[in-house]
Amino acid sequence: MPELLDILKNIQLAIFDLDGVVYRGESLIPNADIVIKRLKELSIKVVYNSNNSTVTRKTYMKRLKNFSIESKITDFYTSASITSAEITKIKESANIYVIGEIGLRQELKSLGHNIETNPTDYRKIDFVIVGLDRDFNYNKLAIAQRCILEGNAKFYATNMDSTLPVARGFKPGAGVMVNALITCTGREPIRIFGKPEPFGIKLILKDTNIPPENACIFGDRLNTDILAGNRAGIISVAVLTGVTSRAMIENIKDKAMKSNNFDKNLIPDLVIEKLVDIFKY
Ligand SMILES: [Mg+2]
Repeated sequence: MPELLDILKNIQLAIFDLDGVVYRGESLIPNADIVIKRLKELSIKVVYNSNNSTVTRKTYMKRLKNFSIESKITDFYTSASITSAEITKIKESANIYVIGEIGLRQELKSLGHNIETNPTDYRKIDFVIVGLDRDFNYNKLAIAQRCILEGNAKFYATNMDSTLPVARGFKPGAGVMVNALITCTGREPIRIFGKPEPFGIKLILKDTNIPPENACIFGDRLNTDILAGNRAGIISVAVLTGVTSRAMIENIKDKAMKSNNFDKNLIPDLVIEKLVDIFKY
């Protein structure tokens, strides 16, 4: 069996971003299944961390199964499941108004929260939580605005991605909905739980009981996956099968060298063309 590159030789935990790393749209990225299998054979724990809050973890499991990748529901950490876990630490059985889809709603419900779809008393809403909602509309925005301004609801968001990768190109991401609510309330979200914030990775490290130096993240986006990985103190690996090209990474490194206030956490510890490049041949 091929050996791992030296920089990865002590890893016990591999965190995979999904879109752009394991698959793109409906297609498996070539050999991603084989690499995941090999890592498991090396007794490395594999988990998945996606910023997409619209999909339930069960659906993700089925999606990977279609690519012949076996997984358990607890192997998935979505911005929805992370938000739900963190919100529960703030308040149990909360009344929540959600701008978002089934993934986010189901994760919140599963931890005992009450989702209000049409609140009659805005003051009863504890939290407004915003994620990607492909049925986003003016009425939902107006309700969320009233919960915050007329009621006393605290504003949280799953993630701020500006775009959502689809089979061909991009569609608007969750950040568009979050920014709409920022604009009409004059408030910023108290916390954003998805990448690049390190909540998810810290939760994974805690759940798996693996120290950060023995963990790595494979991601295709510098301003989410790589930034989150570096902030959490794990090894960050950029894979060039998604949205980032080598030229973009060189450009970032260039900027980092020339400027003092540039966030060096945007620079990956390792850049690989494709996942199989983590093995020595
Ligand atoms: Mg990605």
